[in-house]
Amino acid sequence: MTAATHSKHCPCGGLPKGAIYEQCCGRFHSGAHYGQAPTPEALMRSRYSAYVLRLRDYLNDTWHSSTRPIELMPFDADEKWLGLEIREALPVEADATEGFVEFIARSKPAGGGAAERMHERSRFVKEAGRWLYVDGEFPKRLSWPPRAGFRAPSTI
Ligand SMILES: [Zn+2]
Repeated sequence: MTAATHSKHCPCGGLPKGAIYEQCCGRFHSGAHYGQAPTPEALMRSRYSAYVLRLRDYLNDTWHSSTRPIELMPFDADEKWLGLEIREALPVEADATEGFVEFIARSKPAGGGAAERMHERSRFVKEAGRWLYVDGEFPKRLSWPPRAGFRAPSTI
């Protein structure tokens, strides 16, 4: 699966705000910088955008091997992602190997119904020069159960 090439605002909202896809998460979804988001926040954003664009390989490749599901849950074709809000992303030092990002992702479930809010504080580690998603905790459990893929199944 390849990333769509379209000059639209990035699904993540853009970093900086309003940045187009190619200049934001698109840089990490394909091409020379594949999987090389420079900060935990950039990786978190690129993973959110990968959910929106259904980039299964990217989600797998940016998930730490210790918590990655054997197989990602299938994407829900009718689910609509409504937006991402970064609540807190602390700056990381150049030599940091761990980072955290707190965010809220909103989605509209398949078949209609009220929008859902997914509130997570994700943990990332840096290995071999790349940031990887490890796991997350749920500060307020605004939406439960968590959406597939933002959290490894507890059976793994
Ligand atoms: Zn983006």
